[in-house]
Amino acid sequence: MHTFSYVKAKSLKEAGDMLAAHADAKLLAGGMTLIPTMKARLAQPSHLIDIAGIAELSGIDVKNGRLTIGAATRHVEVAKSAVVKKAIPTLAYLASQIGDPQVRNRGTIGGSLANNDPAADYPSAALSLNATIVTNKREIAADDFFQGIFTTALGAGEMIVKIVFPIPAKAAYEKFPHPASGFAMAGSFVSQDGKAVRVAITGAGPGVFRWKDAEAALGKKLAAASVENLNVDATDLNEDMHGTKEYRANLAKVMTKRAVAKLAGTAATSKSSGK
Ligand SMILES: Cc1cc2nc3c(=O)[nH]c(=O)nc-3n(C[C@H](O)[C@H](O)[C@H](O)COP(=O)(O)OP(=O)(O)OC[C@H]3O[C@@H](n4cnc5c(N)ncnc54)[C@H](O)[C@@H]3O)c2cc1C
Repeated sequence: MHTFSYVKAKSLKEAGDMLAAHADAKLLAGGMTLIPTMKARLAQPSHLIDIAGIAELSGIDVKNGRLTIGAATRHVEVAKSAVVKKAIPTLAYLASQIGDPQVRNRGTIGGSLANNDPAADYPSAALSLNATIVTNKREIAADDFFQGIFTTALGAGEMIVKIVFPIPAKAAYEKFPHPASGFAMAGSFVSQDGKAVRVAITGAGPGVFRWKDAEAALGKKLAAASVENLNVDATDLNEDMHGTKEYRANLAKVMTKRAVAKLAGTAATSKSSGK
């Protein structure tokens, strides 16, 4: 690892000021991605600004039909939260399926969204649930936030403060995890609010994306059979030693059908997604 300065920020303002003062600084949340990236010399920040202990960045709250989660809230806290389990149980389930206990004990929701790994779980929840990503500078709709592989709308000096999720009538998430890491080979987060259905696919492509053909079909009839004759376009999907584009396209469809089957069978929320 190269030499860098480590600073533990005590407040949101202090973290923001430090980020603005050092062009090559990076925020350190759970460190689950950033530290290995630095060890591999793929990132060489001049300063690490540790935001893990900042109270304003942590916590879970429900108000006016919206679930708000602080950016530095760890996966284990989301997975175990009674508030999340009541408001959007599928989100608690999703968090419980991330990586392994060590990763869930350190990794944060803000770090996951900022990193925007194409196989990460949270981006699919944020996109399907039409979440708002609140930063120290502005509010960004999930539809505008994710911009492709490891790329987001975050600008220089910008930090995620919290994520606001509208509480849907129903939601369900299904992923086919890579057996070594738990990252999604393909995952599908399906949510319904009123007539609107939003389907977000992760793992299959270079970034999370909405499967709009499925959304239209499921908006007419919320049943797994509604997507039977549809196919995810494989053209721009990922291809590697773990699977071809066509394999991932099929997997995305299968995960969507499984999520819809769960969702259609539940009364109010996606309680059946929790294990
Ligand atoms: C072995 C292993 C298995 C994993 N399996 C899964 C999995 O199954 N599913 C899954 O979704 N993820 C998985 N992950 C990823 C993990 O869950 C973390 O979410 C991810 O590493 C990033 O979160 P972090 O808090 O550790 O961020 P860090 O590593 O601290 O930071 C990551 C990046 O985000 C930036 N950042 C952090 N917080 C903020 C903020 N508030 N505002 C702006 N930028 C910020 C940092 O500067 C850095 O560039 C896995 C990781 C490992 C190591």
